[in-house]
Parts: sequence; structure tokens; C-alpha cells
Amino acid sequence: MEEASYPVSGRGYAHVCPSCGQALDLYDLRDGDQAYWCAPCGRGHRAGDPPVGALRPLPQAG
Ligand SMILES: [Zn+2]
Repeated sequence: MEEASYPVSGRGYAHVCPSCGQALDLYDLRDGDQAYWCAPCGRGHRAGDPPVGALRPLPQAG
């Protein structure tokens, strides 16, 4: 496994759909993992394996 260049904790980042930019909901998978899913686009990604463009930095105060 290769380390991603961005934080994997998700802290300070919002998971968004790379296609439509909508904030994604977190779902539990049958195998115990968790995944973010965009219903309108019918696509998503596992929480631990976000694709490029799926993490959007949250606005920082100050
Ligand atoms: Zn989408």
C-alpha cells in the first residue's frame, strides 16, 4: 500500500464527490469497512481509500 499525500484521518477535510462536489454520507459496508457514497452519481469510495479530488479542506477560521 502506498501512503497518500494527504491526511487519512479525515480531520480538517470533508469527503466530497469528485464528480459533483456534493458532501458525501458515510455508510457501513457488509465487510465492516466504511465508505462514502454519492447517490446522485451512483459512485463512491472507501473511507480509507479516497481518490484524488474526494478530500476538500475545510475552511479554517482565521
Ligand atoms: Zn456526485
